[in-house]
Amino acid sequence: MKDRMLLGETHSVENVVRELVDFNLYLQDAALQEAVRREGAAWAHEDLAAFGALTGSGEYLTLGALANRYGPELETHDRFGNRIDLVTFHPAYHSLMKTSIENGLHSSPWTEPKPGAHVARAARTYMHTQVDAGHGCPITMTFAAIPSLRTTPELARNWEPKITARIYDPRNVPYADKLGLTIGMAMTEKQGGSDVRANTTRAYPIGAEGPAAAYELIGHKYFVSAPMCDAFMVLAQAPGGLTCFLLPRWRPDGTKNPFQVLRLKRKMGNISNATSETELRGALAWRVGEEGRGVRTILEMVAMTRFDCMIGSSAGQRAAVSQALHHCSIRTAFGKVLNQQPLMRNVLADLVLDSEGALALTMRIARAMDNRADPHEDLLVRLATPVGKYWICKRTPGHAYEAMECIGGSGVMEDGPFPRLFRESPVNAIWEGSGNVQCLDVLRAMRNAPDTLEAFFQEVTKAQGASAPLDRWVDALRKELGDEDDIEYRARDIVDRMALAIQAALLLQHAPTHVADAFCSSRLHVVGTHNYGTLPRGVDRAAIIDRATPRTDA
Ligand SMILES: Cc1cc2nc3c(=O)[nH]c(=O)nc-3n(C[C@H](O)[C@H](O)[C@H](O)COP(=O)(O)OP(=O)(O)OC[C@H]3O[C@@H](n4cnc5c(N)ncnc54)[C@H](O)[C@@H]3O)c2cc1C
Repeated sequence: MKDRMLLGETHSVENVVRELVDFNLYLQDAALQEAVRREGAAWAHEDLAAFGALTGSGEYLTLGALANRYGPELETHDRFGNRIDLVTFHPAYHSLMKTSIENGLHSSPWTEPKPGAHVARAARTYMHTQVDAGHGCPITMTFAAIPSLRTTPELARNWEPKITARIYDPRNVPYADKLGLTIGMAMTEKQGGSDVRANTTRAYPIGAEGPAAAYELIGHKYFVSAPMCDAFMVLAQAPGGLTCFLLPRWRPDGTKNPFQVLRLKRKMGNISNATSETELRGALAWRVGEEGRGVRTILEMVAMTRFDCMIGSSAGQRAAVSQALHHCSIRTAFGKVLNQQPLMRNVLADLVLDSEGALALTMRIARAMDNRADPHEDLLVRLATPVGKYWICKRTPGHAYEAMECIGGSGVMEDGPFPRLFRESPVNAIWEGSGNVQCLDVLRAMRNAPDTLEAFFQEVTKAQGASAPLDRWVDALRKELGDEDDIEYRARDIVDRMALAIQAALLLQHAPTHVADAFCSSRLHVVGTHNYGTLPRGVDRAAIIDRATPRTDA
């Protein structure tokens, strides 16, 4: 003892966990592999396995950490006083963007449409978001811009080939000189984000009338993410009403378009992504769609970004629960490995169930997006996307926090992954239509197209008879929906129930019995009072935990 003290040794490091690195994000995720096969993308297995190896490697995971530790910086002017509006990023951010684009996360369903195309892209996005969520913002916006852009073939003809190209070209040069382009979105203004009809940015026609006509835009945008994108889908008030525009960062003559970045937002999360406040000082833009139809035109884009929020939050849940499962498979307390402690098993299994439900719903919608020519699938996309966006994104912050608590005190430390996961966790719920807005959109869809609700129930009744709790739940939900009184006030409760119904139905059809039964027995009763770790007796928690635990030795 005396010798040890002389050497200055205080203790040996024991009972601590090693980093969760060098594991395959695809092959170590049974639920993901099953979903990919089931929803029509079995053909992508080899590629997804390779992508899983890349994204789970220690070296690659480090890129996500670096891109968030060294966030973007804005230079408004050069040293001579010229306006430059230049945002610079850490090289890790560029590496992540390059991988995303080279793997078609921004375009594959548009360039190679086939059964399973959206499913395979969703699987890749799910893995890549576990490395870093922030860079996914411009990737999603670029991907999502295509349906809106296609409403104006004159623009799509010129822009789509470079938008969908698998070339990441971050050079700050005019779009005509670039090989690959990225697209952002500028709708939100200070006075209103959800209610874009309140937009005050004005658009003045400056040339010949007709599709893709040119305008000048004057106004401000209070949230513009990824301001180094090559062009932005913008809403502004034209003489005929709120209209959608494509606004390039450079004019066709090679001069800088007056799209001025005032400052970058100081965000609590989503750090690797730059989000800016901007002013449009007579900026050139081309009309997308018709004058006065701006909301309808940009909704084509927003539907896609909402779907990506589902993928992103499902990925956030998977990343968090993977860390918790890994930690608790090694760390001991009171003489037992944590995942052998009965109460911790309850918590872990419960966290896994949310993650399983989130993934199952997301991948089902991906398949529906692959099959929109089928009216049932199209109706399902319309209704189940806001249901899923609301529910999955809203569950994620609580899920991240609870997974963090599984690590104990070190979970809170900045040198681990949880502060980033936790800070990221509310973002998807807030942007692209916050929680209430999603619930109101569900009501709107049901009101404007009552067939959407029938399609929803058809989907849920595929599991009819498989679970008495689900059958009872669905009956009660139908009754609830039949009551129109105060329906807006009750909308969250209704959407909660819809989300749980469709997740339970999917799990009953496709997940192992122990997962589906535990999901139904724990979630299909009282809504709103469920804390993690309150699974009822009789649940096969060992099997649930074992299935989801990532292994670094396989
Ligand atoms: C990190 C980040 C990046 C962003 N990037 C972009 C971007 O690139 N481009 C862009 O255009 N925007 C962007 N946004 C803005 C975002 O889309 C808006 O913040 C969001 O749409 C909400 O708008 P708001 O902030 O004005 O809130 P408000 O519209 O004022 O809403 C406040 C609250 O009221 C609720 N609410 C609204 N209407 C109703 C109603 N009728 N009934 C009940 N409740 C209601 C909302 O759900 C919300 O909870 C970004 C936001 C964040 C956080």
